[in-house]
Amino acid sequence: MTLSLAHGPEIAAIPGPSVVPYRVLQAMAKPMPDIYSGDLLPTTDELFEVLPGIARTASRAFVAIGNGHAAWEMALSNTLSSGDRVLVLECGMFATVWAEMATFNGLEVEMMVSAPGRAIDPAAVADRLATDTRRSIKAVLLAHVDTASSVRNDVPAIRAALDAADHPALLMVDCIASLGCERYEMDMWGVDVTVGASQKGLMTPPGLGLVWAGERAMAAHSTAGMRTRYWDWTQRALDGPHYLRFCGTPPVPHVFAMVEALRMIAEEGLEQRWARHRALAGAVRAAVTTWSAPNGLSLYASEPSEQGDPVTTIRSGSVDPRALSAICKERCGVTLGVGLGDLVGSGFRIAHMGHVNAPMVLGVLGTVEAALISMGAPVGGSGVAAAAAVLGNALA
Ligand SMILES: *Cc1c(COP(=O)(O)O)cnc(C)c1O
Repeated sequence: MTLSLAHGPEIAAIPGPSVVPYRVLQAMAKPMPDIYSGDLLPTTDELFEVLPGIARTASRAFVAIGNGHAAWEMALSNTLSSGDRVLVLECGMFATVWAEMATFNGLEVEMMVSAPGRAIDPAAVADRLATDTRRSIKAVLLAHVDTASSVRNDVPAIRAALDAADHPALLMVDCIASLGCERYEMDMWGVDVTVGASQKGLMTPPGLGLVWAGERAMAAHSTAGMRTRYWDWTQRALDGPHYLRFCGTPPVPHVFAMVEALRMIAEEGLEQRWARHRALAGAVRAAVTTWSAPNGLSLYASEPSEQGDPVTTIRSGSVDPRALSAICKERCGVTLGVGLGDLVGSGFRIAHMGHVNAPMVLGVLGTVEAALISMGAPVGGSGVAAAAAVLGNALA
């Protein structure tokens, strides 16, 4: 007989789609309403009123019926023209995929890649932009926290690099993983376009792509050559018929769901949320550091100031991450995130984004520790004890 400890609520510690709160599920479980009258109209207004605050901007948000990829395409097609050069700053696989989309859609892509496990060096960006005397780079694209590597880029420092070169390129930041999980200040940090999605820190099922466009982005929009009718910002005017904000029938359940999630975020408070994620992420990092042993696990993001708070990427050393994940999932009821990019088969991820509390994180860490012990893996010490100490200190 093989012992199973999996019979209870399953925990998904994958970096999206993340856990959807019961309140949000309930909000979307209702019959389809008339889309021209009733509840849907004020709820749609609330959605568009509240979204700017999530990115800390006075600029409006556009909502794409789609996932993060849809938001990527909406951002590019509304601001750029075929043949424009974009500089993509890569510290993980998601920036690469955004770059591939840019290439496919007719942009000239130039990559700058960070050292493994490290953020982009802002000085290197400043140097590159200083040599672009003809100002051929029209936009700089990066992920705030790349969900594959869990590395966080220093967005204000990248902005400063643009300013130091007095370079007019648009700054576009993918915050799909970080929004609602870590400090992000679109206006204060001088970001022109912010990209988000519903299903990570924002606790809503996948299906809404989000794009916030600042003044410089809207100015670029007026001459952008890649615009297509479906994604076009101009026809999604807030003062037009409300269904045009979605270019057609609204994603009704998602509108109700997202508004409920945004109410929950407001009740908790954005700063409180960031503090919660910081504490939980700190607990996970302390656990991994304590587990570390020769040939054992280690944190992929090596520099503490560059470790993102929504997710932790772990190198697994001599430990087979597939075997570890199989024990966690099939015998204990916890699903871990897979390693992506250069960590396929040599790493895994623990997500702690959105609707996540202390027992969930401690439960996931305890399960990983038990699985490591069951495999006879090299373990330096009790990561669970270290994590509890971090949370205890945070609560004191
Ligand atoms: C999840 C994620 C994406 C992709 O989002 P999809 O909804 O899968 O299209 C892009 N960038 C980052 C940083 C992400 O975390």
